[in-house]
Amino acid sequence: MTTNTVSVTRGSSPLILSMPHPGTGLPPEIAAALNERGRLVEDTDWHMRQLYGFTERLAPTVVEAQLSRFVIDLNRDPSGVSLYPGQATTELVPTTTFDGAPIWQATLDGAEIERRKAAYFQPYHDALSAEIARVKGEHGYCVLWDCHSIKSVIPRLFAGTLPTLNLGTNSGASCAPSVEAAAIAAMAGQPLTQIANGRFKGGWITRHYGRPSEHVHALQMEIALSAYLADETAPWAFDAPKATQLQSALSAIIEAALGAAAAFERSRS
Ligand SMILES: [Zn+2]
Repeated sequence: MTTNTVSVTRGSSPLILSMPHPGTGLPPEIAAALNERGRLVEDTDWHMRQLYGFTERLAPTVVEAQLSRFVIDLNRDPSGVSLYPGQATTELVPTTTFDGAPIWQATLDGAEIERRKAAYFQPYHDALSAEIARVKGEHGYCVLWDCHSIKSVIPRLFAGTLPTLNLGTNSGASCAPSVEAAAIAAMAGQPLTQIANGRFKGGWITRHYGRPSEHVHALQMEIALSAYLADETAPWAFDAPKATQLQSALSAIIEAALGAAAAFERSRS
């Protein structure tokens, strides 16, 4: 099932993978408004579907954005409130790249942002909400894993080099404590640099949908692109041998979260 903005692949398990940023699509009116730098869509979460190909045996539902985050950022509060008040970030409709380079030829007005919310933001969230409801209907609960990646060095956003694995649970609010604990313990067993609720604590998707009291356990994984790309620059080539260790780590962490969520939900019923 594919529309212009989002593709949904249904699975039979309680796991939902949300991929809000792997898209590179640009509707014609958006491509025409971007400047040359913007049209490079450099802040893409590259090759998410390929990276998470190992999850096939877990039968996840995958909700994947087709359009670039430069159209509108599906992981930002649609009211425009910053995810990280007081810190540099990019907006609901980004005005710049992560590095701070302007991406539009002219300033966008409020009416244009409202238009994009209706045309490009809402369809992704309608699809994701529908899949969460469907999976909860089948299993009684779901584990929502929000998939992200980012360059490991972006001085405007964070100091130094980002750890490879950055788990976010909105500081523990977006999933049951036992699910967070299982994910962190599994992550600790991996030979990769890591942090939980560091610079990235989970964006709007994790915060909005993660409601453990309503049987939705949401976790965000922000990954340093250097862990699976040949280079953190164009052409953003996937490095399969390099990705193997990362995929093995992700597999262990996701399975731990799934196991803990199943146990937690069993204990409540
Ligand atoms: Zn992302």
